[in-house]
Amino acid sequence: MLTHLHSDHSMGLLDEAGSKVFPNAELFIHEVEAAFWLDREIQPSDPERLAGNCKKQRTLTAPYRIRRIKDGEVLPGITATMRPGHTPGHTNWLIQSGGEKILIWGDIVHLAAVQLARPQARLIYDVDSDQAAATRQRVLEWAAKERLCVAGAHIGFPGFGTVKRTGDRFAIEAA
Ligand SMILES: [Zn+2]
Repeated sequence: MLTHLHSDHSMGLLDEAGSKVFPNAELFIHEVEAAFWLDREIQPSDPERLAGNCKKQRTLTAPYRIRRIKDGEVLPGITATMRPGHTPGHTNWLIQSGGEKILIWGDIVHLAAVQLARPQARLIYDVDSDQAAATRQRVLEWAAKERLCVAGAHIGFPGFGTVKRTGDRFAIEAA
């Protein structure tokens, strides 16, 4: 289950020889994310970084079966919600079991030390940085209200914790 198609989240799918690392796996990718990076015709007007990532993601996912998913529960206890901005189909995965839950939030924050304190701070890797900032604000407010445990690829060790809010600032405390 991929949060989005950026190489630091998908590069591990293939080994150095270009073979599948997970031979029996099927990839779950939001249909909007797949449409943008995998299906769309690359335009001459696309910025180089964007066109390059399209090509790279097509190579990385090509050997796999892909299930293009929509928002909602895709497997028992595992729910996808599109949180667009960082990428068009950037997806959060809420995993629930036995009364506990954790939100796998991908790149809702990319530079945790800055963007938790200042959610409006943007990053060049965002496809739509205004939308990414608005999404970040919304997810942080919700996660803090729910006292949700979150896990992200760019959160400091141990990589997960509970979102706390103080005024306009947020922080992640060890769970
Ligand atoms: Zn990313």
